[in-house]
Amino acid sequence: MTTETMSYPHVIGEDRTKNQETIDVENKYDQRVLGSVFRGGKEEVDRAVAAARQAFEQSQLTPSERGELLRKAAELFSEKKEELAQTITAEVGKVIRDARMEVDRGIQTFLAAAEEAGRITGHTVPIENQKGNENRLAFTIRQPVGVIGAITPFNFPFNLTAHKLAPALAAGNTVVLKPAEKTPLSAMMMVDLLLEAGFRPGTINVVNGYGHEAGDALLRHPDVDMYTFTGSPDVGKIIKSTTGIRKVTLELGSNAPNIVHSDVDDLYEVAKSCVEKGMMHNGQACISVQRIYVHEDRADEFLRYAKEAAEALEVGNPQDDDTRVGPLIDVKSAERIEAWVNEAVSGGARIISGGRREGAIYYPTVLTDVQPDMRVVCEEVFAPVVVVVPYSDIQEAIRQANDSRFGLQVGVFTKDIDLAIHAAKKLRYGGIILNDVSTFRADTMPYGGIKDSGVGKEGPKYAIEEMTDEKIIVINAK
Ligand code: NAD
Repeated sequence: MTTETMSYPHVIGEDRTKNQETIDVENKYDQRVLGSVFRGGKEEVDRAVAAARQAFEQSQLTPSERGELLRKAAELFSEKKEELAQTITAEVGKVIRDARMEVDRGIQTFLAAAEEAGRITGHTVPIENQKGNENRLAFTIRQPVGVIGAITPFNFPFNLTAHKLAPALAAGNTVVLKPAEKTPLSAMMMVDLLLEAGFRPGTINVVNGYGHEAGDALLRHPDVDMYTFTGSPDVGKIIKSTTGIRKVTLELGSNAPNIVHSDVDDLYEVAKSCVEKGMMHNGQACISVQRIYVHEDRADEFLRYAKEAAEALEVGNPQDDDTRVGPLIDVKSAERIEAWVNEAVSGGARIISGGRREGAIYYPTVLTDVQPDMRVVCEEVFAPVVVVVPYSDIQEAIRQANDSRFGLQVGVFTKDIDLAIHAAKKLRYGGIILNDVSTFRADTMPYGGIKDSGVGKEGPKYAIEEMTDEKIIVINAK
């Protein structure tokens, strides 16, 4: 792999800047050092924002030219697909099949943004309907916000960086990116390929470093027009309180519920899907299946299938094609979830499968007999752990699903269309997935949560709306 011992400097306009201190990036399975980035801070952020501002002021690309560059970048990603996937697997610990899927999705995200670049539009506003305004004509236009500060999490370093950069560039903005310090390498590869595709220096700038240093400096910089952040609710709150009245999009965490009603036909397939999507990406996805509410008539059968599905998952080296669950991002995360499961078990929870840790690996775990206030239920587990909770009445299942400070996505399985629509209206979530798991996401759909799961939407079309200012133009046509 070319990332081996690769050291990525910050990207600031045409400069490639280094600091004395570096941050090593390890392979999360064998702890081999894969490469490093530099530990940037305020000084680099100041220069990167200035470069982004200058590039924005000088930017002359038309929407179709921006679309062309995005398509060219997608082509370059396709050429490097395997190298990108191997890098993601090594730096995140995500299994190779999921990493390959992530690269494919990132490419789709860029292609969708390329299309949207040509469709950025306002609308006419019929103010002439109002008495006294008969001679006026009004319409809106959308213009780029300017300089965008983008901060990304560790778990989807390629596709979530794509969800920041592709719409920002499609809309004609310039960007300062602060990648996750635990997994910056595939994002750096993406930026190199974007520049190779032809985006001018200064359009995309990167300052690497820690959240409380480089990230904090970016949040405090007065010349950033908007922030787009994906990460934990705790940092989301810091962002909101630090950035004042500037625009923010926050894509945060969740403890996604899934409701399995008594009338489902193929309970085996539903149970298998719930377990596999709870363990996919080693459980480190914001919409990973976590809480599964199963009608009591089917709960025992569901648990049998869930155990079978969890035990069938190959655990080990994420680089092997057959592996389905690899290490968590670090040993600390595995120790945290081990403590949460142990605490639940002390409170009466029963382990159906898993419940075991080996270094950073936590075995796919299914729990039942849990209580609503246990951390494996009410917090975001961000690990391969699901809890199964029987219910007798669908209203009770909806109430429990809503009993969360989060509200990102929810899955509901039922054949009854009336019940499905009733549940969809009652569930307080940004996305309701009927007859599939909460984990479903098409990269083009509007995606984002309510409550502690965030504000604003992603998906290129919707992110472009966030990343543009809508201006109204009124013509006084006497
Ligand atoms: P995190 O919040 O710890 O870190 C995310 C980013 O914020 C990193 O780049 C980090 O350096 C930076 N950061 C940390 N402190 C900061 C500060 N004070 N100022 C500025 N920046 C700061 O999150 P993580 O552990 O990397 O990712 C996991 C979290 O992300 C989970 O909660 C998960 O649900 C969430 N997530 C949400 C989505 C979504 O689309 N809703 C997708 C993926 C992950």
